[in-house]
Amino acid sequence: MSYLTPKPLTPKITLEEHFLTEYFNKFEDSIVKSFRPNFRHWMEDRIGEFTEKRLESMDEHGIELQVLSLTVPGIQAIKDANEAVYQAKSVNDFLAEITYKNPDRFAGFASLPCQNPQEAADELERAVTQLGLKGALINGHTNGEYLDQQKFWCIWERAESLGVPIYLHPNSPVDQWKVMEGYPELTKAMWGWGVETATHTLRIILSGLFDRFPKSTLVLGHMGETLPFTLQRLDDRFGVGADNRNLEKTPSQYIRENIMVTTSGVCSPEALLCTQLAVGTDRIMFSIDYPYQCPEEATKFIESAPLSPSDLRKICYENAKKLLSL
Ligand code: MN
Repeated sequence: MSYLTPKPLTPKITLEEHFLTEYFNKFEDSIVKSFRPNFRHWMEDRIGEFTEKRLESMDEHGIELQVLSLTVPGIQAIKDANEAVYQAKSVNDFLAEITYKNPDRFAGFASLPCQNPQEAADELERAVTQLGLKGALINGHTNGEYLDQQKFWCIWERAESLGVPIYLHPNSPVDQWKVMEGYPELTKAMWGWGVETATHTLRIILSGLFDRFPKSTLVLGHMGETLPFTLQRLDDRFGVGADNRNLEKTPSQYIRENIMVTTSGVCSPEALLCTQLAVGTDRIMFSIDYPYQCPEEATKFIESAPLSPSDLRKICYENAKKLLSL
């Protein structure tokens, strides 16, 4: 028996924590259905639930507040624009209800019907100003279209003026890449999601969007989807192949100034240290990716990471509090 008092848990706010409604679970590509039966049942017990297991798990791991979002593929999978608008509004109303019932424990990121960009911008404003949601989470491409396209800039403009972040969550690549052929697991969370999301982010950076909307904040999960590892290479080679971008800054500057990263789904001290050196402590936020990532593993990882007490508190709590104006 140790005579040392166990270290109390650091208070936490987590930002990539998912839910699923019956309507979205009906989709053929509902992510829950892609897991092996044992784990699938475990998740199905948790992903649509807000009053017991989720709260127990939060209490057990020092999580004061979960910022909830509809799980992938969500609204992004809907083909018809009017249907997407209708479903986004109804899922945002549903999410707002959850946060009203338990405002001390839950906040939310809105779903946006990017199928109609103007409606998406208006829905973001409604979600933030009327429903009290804290920003939006977009599940990657919408029917093969990426957020660097000019037609989506009205969404960024609205997010910037509302002062709320857009969380870019992974989704499967649009096409089957030749290099992944024969290895379907490579197109999923193991690898393809990160490559897809990092590339989507670089499209946004190279489009000049952050020059036009310099106060925008894009949030990336999974320890920055490998981008923190690549900053020097990006800056060194971004002129090769296209020299007419006329960007005001280098790629790494946008990553350090317009992007925040969460630790969702990555429980790796070496990745955390790389990210801390690359983008700085103030831009990293702890998250779990509930219920896909084991909360116990994620909590053990962050509580035992080689961080000073003040850096740990920033990453677990203060940075998120500031970003979301809580
Ligand atoms: Mn996730």
